[in-house]
Amino acid sequence: MRVILMGPQGAGKGTQAAKLEEETGATHIETGDLVRSEIKSETELGQKIKEYSDKGELVPDEIIIDMTKPYLDENDSWILDGFPRTQEQARALDEALEDIGEELDMVIVLEADDDELVERLSGRRQSEATGEVYHVEHNPPPEEGSEEDPGPFVQREDDTEEAIRNRLDSYHEQTEPLKDFYEEKGILVTVDASKDIDEVTQEVLKAVGEDK
Ligand code: ADP
Ligand code: ADP
Repeated sequence: MRVILMGPQGAGKGTQAAKLEEETGATHIETGDLVRSEIKSETELGQKIKEYSDKGELVPDEIIIDMTKPYLDENDSWILDGFPRTQEQARALDEALEDIGEELDMVIVLEADDDELVERLSGRRQSEATGEVYHVEHNPPPEEGSEEDPGPFVQREDDTEEAIRNRLDSYHEQTEPLKDFYEEKGILVTVDASKDIDEVTQEVLKAVGEDK
């Protein structure tokens, strides 16, 4: 299975990719995570891409393509989250697949409106220990002190209203036009992501033929 999960920041790509990974065994490849761990490792590349990431700007295509490609080559079955975000990246992905004689199965776009997305991202919390993503209201973590307490939790520095609005603008300008590119290929599936997490999961599983 080779699937792209597309959609604006906060639509639930990470949340749904985790569920898809669990159900299908495909590897979740999240480029935002690749970028954050490269920065954390304080490599030369990490220092270079931090300048972009700190401003909420896209890392140059050439760099992100080089960072992502090894993961695509390593895995036969994947859910791509956060890539491609530009025409150039979409073309590079096509070429990489052509080189190995494979094709994309599907592009699932999660849709929700900007005000809902800002609310979601403002309440997003991530467990430092497990990487699991929660929401203070819509998907609260197990209680503090309980046996499965995954705390402490962190809030991303770029999950402030201003930074979120900037990233959403960049999505609408640079990434959203890719919907037409994949629509023309006949592999675009749109899912209403404004519903509850579980309802969205059902729709996503239906799209990949894994619903029960
Ligand atoms: P966001 O919520 O803004 O989509 P991500 O966690 O997906 O954040 O990515 C964090 C940062 O990593 C982005 O702001 C951007 O600088 C960089 N990044 C991730 N994926 C890409 C990509 N496909 N192209 C360019 N930059 C990317
Ligand atoms: P993305 O990867 O698309 O940026 P996330 O999966 O990180 O989005 O979700 C953003 C925030 O919204 C998280 O706090 C998550 O728990 C919450 N969330 C995800 N899907 C839904 C949903 N369908 N309804 C309400 N909140 C959601």
